[in-house]
Amino acid sequence: MIELLKELIKIKSDTKEGANEALRYCAEWLESHGQEVQVHDNLGYLMLTATKGENNEGDTIVWNGHVDVVPGHKEQFSPLVEGDRLYGRGAADMKAGVAAMMQAFVDLDEEKLSRTVQLHIVTDEEIGGHNTSEWLVQQGYTGDFIIAGEPTRLKVGLQSKGILHMDLTFKGKPAHGSRPWEGINAIEAAMKFHEALKDLPFTKESSEYYEQPSVNLAKINAGDRYNVVPEICHMSYDIRFLPEQDPKEIERQMAELGEQLNLNMDYTASGSTPALTTSETNPYIKHLQAVIREETDKEPVLFGQHGAADTRYYAAVNEGGEGAIEFGPAGDDWHGNAEYVSISSVETYRNILVAHALLEV
Ligand SMILES: [Zn+2]
Repeated sequence: MIELLKELIKIKSDTKEGANEALRYCAEWLESHGQEVQVHDNLGYLMLTATKGENNEGDTIVWNGHVDVVPGHKEQFSPLVEGDRLYGRGAADMKAGVAAMMQAFVDLDEEKLSRTVQLHIVTDEEIGGHNTSEWLVQQGYTGDFIIAGEPTRLKVGLQSKGILHMDLTFKGKPAHGSRPWEGINAIEAAMKFHEALKDLPFTKESSEYYEQPSVNLAKINAGDRYNVVPEICHMSYDIRFLPEQDPKEIERQMAELGEQLNLNMDYTASGSTPALTTSETNPYIKHLQAVIREETDKEPVLFGQHGAADTRYYAAVNEGGEGAIEFGPAGDDWHGNAEYVSISSVETYRNILVAHALLEV
């Protein structure tokens, strides 16, 4: 399995072509290990699915992994082992997860399986996942419980925040720059709004896994000359809300604030990605915790992710956004120059995947 991981790291998969090459390598490896594989093509993006226990009556678990990586330095595509560490671009994010899932899939004894297990390997997670994971879900490839093998240090990434994009337009009244009292400055209106936003009730809420939602003032655009009071100011927020929060309520509070401050403000809300809401009472999570305890002799750690991964596409079609988690091996500095994965954690991870798939819910 570690040899497989090294081979995957050598394939420079930071482009569409490179990621497709890595995908074809995975398909051939699985076939040479006796597995039946389906390779799919959407707009030139390749992905593969493989299924075990297809005729079983039970539920379906999906293992999802991506072989595309963010760009790296040339030497990062030559894997390097130092003690328990395997360095390389994608070692942690997430070719280790992929290699372990492939090995676990080969090792999984179909005779002992009472459910269906599907392996999904995709090629565009780092650029949004729209062409592969989202497409697979649209084609009906989904399940009751989904594990995305992102590097989580063998902790269980139970939830993730949702995303709300708010684009606001503040309208003022233009006037000559030498007589600003005759106009209404749209930039100052936007600043007033931004200051007051920090006190809105939604920004103060917390939950079991999160101290607060986040609000990023991402874009601002206004004014073009010194001698004019600006008439228009565009301002955009990237808001990451808690699983318990309703984006409609956030929208409502923002609109109400504009009215309270007596601002001439229009807005559009878009790009809303639902939060991942799996709770620790989910039976698959209970089983996963039991298996982690067994394999690591440690108490499993549950946490909430700040960003979203391909899990969001699977969760969106499950009731209440439940059942899609991030769970993968240990490592560090993914997307950085010293990315590595802990070799022993990859072995442990594979064992956990197999044991979890064999436990009946
Ligand atoms: Zn990743």
